[in-house]
Amino acid sequence: MISVEEAQERVLAEITTIGTERVAFTDALGRILREDIIAASDVPQADNTAMDGYALRADDIANPPARLRVIEDLPAGNVATKTLEKGTAIRIMTGALIPDGADTVAHVEITDAGSDFVTVKQSLKRGTNLRKKGEDMRAGDVVLAAGTFIGAAEIGVLASVQKSVVRVGRRPTVAIISTGDEIVDVDEQRTLGKVVNSNSYSLAALAREAGAIPRMMGIVRDTREATIAAIESALECDFIISSGGVSVGAYDFVKDALDALGADTKFWQIAMKPGKPVVLSRLRDRVYFGLPGNPVSCMVSFLLFIAPALRKAMGQKSGILPPSVKTRLMGPLKSRGDRRNYLRVRVVARDGELLAYPMNAQGSGVSTSMVQANGFAIVDTGVTTVNAGETISTVLVAAPFSE
Ligand code: AMP
Ligand code: MG
Repeated sequence: MISVEEAQERVLAEITTIGTERVAFTDALGRILREDIIAASDVPQADNTAMDGYALRADDIANPPARLRVIEDLPAGNVATKTLEKGTAIRIMTGALIPDGADTVAHVEITDAGSDFVTVKQSLKRGTNLRKKGEDMRAGDVVLAAGTFIGAAEIGVLASVQKSVVRVGRRPTVAIISTGDEIVDVDEQRTLGKVVNSNSYSLAALAREAGAIPRMMGIVRDTREATIAAIESALECDFIISSGGVSVGAYDFVKDALDALGADTKFWQIAMKPGKPVVLSRLRDRVYFGLPGNPVSCMVSFLLFIAPALRKAMGQKSGILPPSVKTRLMGPLKSRGDRRNYLRVRVVARDGELLAYPMNAQGSGVSTSMVQANGFAIVDTGVTTVNAGETISTVLVAAPFSE
C-alpha cells in the first residue's frame, strides 16, 4: 500500500498535457489558458482622471479658495482641444484624459461646481485623482500566463487587451463505467437486493466540474468478458474511470480485465479510508482509474486523485492539488487507526477561523453525508480519536461556507 501523497505523485507523473483549441474568450470560463497573453499597449493608454471634477495645476489652488476660469468641458472619451494655462481649469469626467498643462484633478465635491468659473475650496497634492498611464498594464507585459485557470477576472483582462479568441486546453473526455450485478440504473425497477447507480452520475458531475466531458458507458455486469469489453470500448476517451469491482471479492474483475488487456498497473491500494482499493493503470496511451464502488470512496478518490489529473492534463500549472488547511474540530472524530482516514466535514469560516463540523455518519456507503461536505479532516495512522476543539488538518474541496 502506498501513501496518499505518493499516489498523487504517481498519478500526476502519468499525466501529459492534452491538445489545445481556440475558443471565443466569452466561452473560456473554467478553461485553462495555453498561451501567454501579452498587453499590446499600456492600459490606461494615458494619464486620466479617477474622479469627476476639474483638471488644473496644483500650484493654482495652493492658497484656497481659488477661482479659476473654465476653458473647456471634457466628457470621458474626448481629448482636450486646449492646453491648460495658469489660472484656468477644464471640467473633466471620470476616465477622460488629462489635458496638456494640467497635473491634478480637483474632485467636484471640493468645488462650487461652476461652469464659466469654478471656485476650489481646498488645496491638493500634485497628481491627486490621476490614474497613471500603464498603471494597470504596460505594453509587453505578460498579463496572463499560459497555465492559468480562467475565471471572471481573467475574462475581464482578456477583454481589456481585446483578445477575442484564446487558446485553451481541450476538454478531456472521461469514460465512466459502473460495475456490479447488483446495480440498476435510475429509470429501472429496483427489486430487493439491487442498488441504484449513483456513482456514474456523481462522477460525471465531478468530471464536468473539473472541466472535462463525461461519457456515460453504462453498467457492466460482473464477468471478466463484460468488463474487458467495456474497458475496450472506453478506450476512445482520454481517461477511463470505473467504479466497483476493484476489491478482492470473487466478482471483482477490473484488475483481471486490465491484466488481460495488457495494462501496466501502477498501484492498486492506497493506505487511506475511504478508498483503499484504487487502481491506477496505463492502458495503451490512456490512463485508467479503477475506483471502489462505495459512493463516498468513489467521490473522495476522484477529488484527491482524478480532479488534479484532469487539471494537469488541461495544462493548469499551479493549484492542482486540493489545498490543506488547519481547522478547529467542532465534534469528536474516531478512526480505527490502521489507515489514514479522510472524514467528511462541513468547513465554516467564522470570526476569522475555520471550523470543521463532522458529518453525522461516516460510513463509506452513506452518500448523504457527502451533501454539504466541503472538506475531509485527516486522522492519521495511529490516531484513534480526535476531540472537539482540537486543531486538525483538513483538505478543502470547495470554498468554506460563511455559516
Ligand atoms: P464493490 O467495490 O464493487 O464491491 O462495490 C461496493 C459497494 O458499492 C456495492 O455493494 C454497492 O452497494 C456500492 N456500489 C457499487 N457501484 C455502485 C454504483 N454505481 N452506484 C451506487 N453504489 C454502488
Ligand atoms: Mg461490485
